[in-house]
Amino acid sequence: MARAKLRKDETHVTKQRVGFIGLGSMGSAMAPRLVGAGYEVAGFDLDRQAVESFAAAGGKAAGSVAEVGQSCPIVLMSLPTPQAMEAVAAGPGGLREARPKIVIDLSTSGPRMSQSVARRLGEAGILFADAPVSGGRAGALAGRLSLMVAARAETWERVEPLLANFGRTFHVGEAPGQGQMTKLVNNLLSVVALAVSCEGMALGAKAGLDPQRMLEVINASSGRNSATLDKIPRSVLSRSFDFGFSTALSSKDVALCLEEAEAMGVPMLMGSMARNLLAVTSARFGGECDFTNMARLFEEWAGVKIGGAKP
Ligand code: NAD
Repeated sequence: MARAKLRKDETHVTKQRVGFIGLGSMGSAMAPRLVGAGYEVAGFDLDRQAVESFAAAGGKAAGSVAEVGQSCPIVLMSLPTPQAMEAVAAGPGGLREARPKIVIDLSTSGPRMSQSVARRLGEAGILFADAPVSGGRAGALAGRLSLMVAARAETWERVEPLLANFGRTFHVGEAPGQGQMTKLVNNLLSVVALAVSCEGMALGAKAGLDPQRMLEVINASSGRNSATLDKIPRSVLSRSFDFGFSTALSSKDVALCLEEAEAMGVPMLMGSMARNLLAVTSARFGGECDFTNMARLFEEWAGVKIGGAKP
């Protein structure tokens, strides 16, 4: 991989310019944090409304990926799919042609796509870090995400102060894709925990237990997990089903995880079940529905509501 040289004055000045591509559920919460931290941030999204909202939050509206890449030495991406990330990073009119110094992928893109994009950007002298995040939109808004970063040591040193604006940073390795692999394992655990928690809560509700009280007990006991602590009280008991993560994106994460596991010959029983549950959630409520709607499946099967006013 060609070693790109980075001039200090381009990355260590106080009012540093950075680009942010993908201003969706996560990007629209993360990019304004950089504005708040004093960076000059150029934002682009295919959705003009998202760009206008970002400009209203103090960002600079950009008209294309190329414009962002040409005007900013560091560009961050928060994009929905590996294919979208590849197109922005290495496709026609993308960052590979625009030649920023460093590209950081905050999306969940999978290890293999990260490796492929890192290689193609490296050939153009562009440094790459995969830095997928965990913590949801609420964590992004509060600057309390965890970031799983794979980057060469010198790239890590340069990007860490920028990424620290989003939350807690972990350097998990130097090889491209290692951040992605960490993220896929994390999300496997997260979605399986959501599924089994919905199943258990539906059973308890049918047995006449108060869901709120059940959660209080579970969260003080050995069954607690990210669904009982956060997703179920916030988005299921309230009946808002608005955690901020779509069923389609969760399905993508699990599919990427299963693909990696299959390639490595590792059986994934829980992962396969989670994939099927997400497929049923999507068939029942639509792929764009929040993945906490999975709770409604268990409610329908049990003939009970886990909480709130209406099913
Ligand atoms: P999202 O679908 O809400 O946002 C993605 C944005 O990217 C959209 O605004 C879309 O218009 C834009 N986009 C798509 N293709 C583009 C292109 N070619 N050029 C410019 N913009 C483009 O997704 P999200 O929930 O913000 O998630 C973003 C990434 O973060 C995903 O990879 C997801 O898996 C990951 N993630 C999400 C969460 C969460 O809770 N939402 C948590 C952790 C990680």
